[in-house]
Order: sequence, then C-alpha cells, then structure tokens
Amino acid sequence: MTQYDLILLGAGHAHLGVLRRWAMFERPQGRIALVSVGHHAWYSGMLPGLISGQHAADDCRVELAPLCRGAKVELIVDQVAALQADTRQVQLASGACLQGKWLSLNVGGALSQPTQSGTAIECLAVKPFESFLQGWQRWKDDPAPTAIIGGGAAGVELALAMARHVPHLALFCSGRLLSGHNAGLHLRALGHLRQRRVNVREYCPISHIENDQLFSEQQAVWQGARVLLASGAAALPWLAQSGLECDARGFVNIAPTLQSFSHPHVFAVGDCSALPGAMRSGVYAVRQGQVLANNLAAVLHGTPLRRYRPQRQSLALLATGDGGALLGWRNWSAGGQIFGRLKDYLDYGFIRRHQWQG
Ligand SMILES: Cc1cc2nc3c(=O)[nH]c(=O)nc-3n(C[C@H](O)[C@H](O)[C@H](O)COP(=O)(O)OP(=O)(O)OC[C@H]3O[C@@H](n4cnc5c(N)ncnc54)[C@H](O)[C@@H]3O)c2cc1C
Repeated sequence: MTQYDLILLGAGHAHLGVLRRWAMFERPQGRIALVSVGHHAWYSGMLPGLISGQHAADDCRVELAPLCRGAKVELIVDQVAALQADTRQVQLASGACLQGKWLSLNVGGALSQPTQSGTAIECLAVKPFESFLQGWQRWKDDPAPTAIIGGGAAGVELALAMARHVPHLALFCSGRLLSGHNAGLHLRALGHLRQRRVNVREYCPISHIENDQLFSEQQAVWQGARVLLASGAAALPWLAQSGLECDARGFVNIAPTLQSFSHPHVFAVGDCSALPGAMRSGVYAVRQGQVLANNLAAVLHGTPLRRYRPQRQSLALLATGDGGALLGWRNWSAGGQIFGRLKDYLDYGFIRRHQWQG
C-alpha cells in the first residue's frame, strides 16, 4: 500500500484551484497525490458551447499533468472504487491501494436515473463527459426524437444547444423550469426554448421508463428512443459505504472548515458534500477551493483553519446555444449576445488560469 501525507480524490473545480495556488505560491510539505479518472478535468460550464459548436473540446478542459507538475503533486490516473474513512484507505479500480494521513474529496455527483424496464430507449447520462460526448456524436450523426430529463441549468442549456441537431426535442422537469432562479430568467428561458421548438413539460416528474415510453406516475407522457439524463446531482454510491457521515441522500456532511463531521481527517467539497447554505454548482465549488487550499496546508503545517461561508447569491449565466446567454442576478434578468461574450470571457479565463505552462 502506498502512503501519502495527503491524497486529493477527483479533479473537481475546488481541487483545480488548490493545485493552481500551490503551483503559483508555496506548496505545503509532504507527499501529495491527485487521483483523477482522466488526464483532463472538463469544465461543465462550457459543455453546452461545445455541443452547439461554439467551442472545441480542448477549449473546455484543463490538462492535469502540467498543473500537477507545477504543484509538485503526483498524478494518478485511476478511478476511486472504494474509500474506508476509518483506516484512511482508498481502493482504486486498477486494484492499487493508497493510504493518506489526510484525504480530500472533490468527486462531484452522479445523475439520477428513473427505473427502466426494456431496452427500447437508449439512456445517455451527461456525466462522465467523455462518454456523453461519444454518445452525442452518434446521436448527432443519426438524429431522432429525444427527451431530456432535468429542467435545471444543465438541462436548459443542453436543450438550447442540441435543438438545432435534434428534430423533436422534449424537456421534462419535476417542478418549475430553473427552480431556484428568478422569475424573469425562467420566462426568458421558456421563450428561447419555444423559439427552438423544444416541447417543455414543467411539473412532470418522470417516475419510470417502460419500453419506449416515459411515465409520470401512471401516465405515459412521451414515446421515443433516446433520453438524455441531466437531472440534479445524486451522490456517488461508494460515499455512503465509506463510513463517513452522510445526509439522507448520501452526500458527505461537512463542517464550515470543509472537514467531514465524523472523520475530520477527510475533507469534502463541491457536489459530493452537504453544507447548509451551499448550493451544488460550479460557482460554489470554485469558492470552496480558496478555503480548502488554506485548510489543507494548515492541517499539514499545524496552523489554524479557516471557515467557509457560502455566498448568499450567485450570478447565473446560461448559454442560449446561439452565442448569446441569459443572465440572472437576484431578481434581475437579461439576455443577449453581450452576455454570451461575458460568459465566454469568464469561462475561457477559468481554463486559462488552470492551464499550467511548463
Ligand atoms: C451541462 C452542464 C452545465 C453546467 N453549467 C454550470 C454553470 O454554468 N455554472 C455552474 O455553477 N454549474 C454548472 N453546472 C453544474 C456543475 O457542473 C457542477 O455543480 C460542478 O461541476 C460541481 O463541481 P465539483 O467540483 O463538485 O465536481 P465536478 O466538476 O463534477 O468534478 C468531479 C471530478 O471528479 C471526478 N471523479 C468522479 N468520480 C470519480 C472517481 N470515482 N474517482 C476519481 N475521480 C472521480 C470526475 O471525473 C471529475 O473530474 C453544469 C452542469 C452540467 C452537467
């Protein structure tokens, strides 16, 4: 078993920020590794732009090897299969086993999938991005009616990006479209979706898939062959089996220092964690990265930890698939090409900041 002082699990938004800080400034002492399923970290905010043809794949991902070299962190390309919080052991899919004095989890979430009987409908999940992009290429080359399940920011942006390529596109959401966002943004998004002839079904939770039909409770609501899963994050199953205290949905309960309540030697951030006031979105994960970098260095050096306070509001910028974007801030909303340019500026800035040279 290979021993480390600190193991970063998953190349999520917060860990990218940690690596960048350590590459730019002083890195804490000790043997440190990052475990990532791939050689790249994809930036979800740019995925809709990749689908609509605004970006190339290389624009939307950060190469991990140079960033890890800069931060003097060992890059282990493998998948975490299991974690034992009590013994601090990490089992990898390759069969290798690692042990860390400190662990930090930034592995994101899974997608919820309705139960399915029959194989008439092909379900494609938006994550992991590599397999989604391969599946999408196949779908794009041979278009057929498609339903998207999930009416959050991801579902809306993907529907707007895909509409040009898919003949009949339906978007299902369990509640109001873009719930949690302001009413103006909701109306603007509906307007754009109608313009692209996307059939939007609000308050229509999909309970199960039977043969070639989607059901909401006992009623068949759609018939077709392809379903894209883009509904809210579910927890990765191995987290609840790790011994870490998790909430009812299987996300790791953390304190404001970003440490697990039950196992303070394990940090957890981003979509895999649960903290009152923190939303599951890239914006929150990025902000947590600043406190995480400080606190990981603090535990390795024995200095005081900082507390993370979730911001009350966050700016929403949703790509409309035509180079433009919708903006939502508090009760205010707007839309147009200028916001698309603002989104590109921020998104490309994120990638540039983490694309380490040397
Ligand atoms: C299409 C789309 C558009 C979105 N747009 C926005 C947006 O504009 N703004 C916004 O704030 N949010 C957006 N989101 C939500 C956002 O993607 C997530 O909330 C955010 O990515 C969470 O960040 P994270 O750091 O927790 O995890 P992630 O960014 O999901 O990163 C997790 C990392 O862990 C890796 N991983 C997973 N399992 C394992 C394992 N077992 N072993 C090793 N590595 C593993 C993954 O490969 C990934 O690299 C969007 C989501 C989608 C799907």
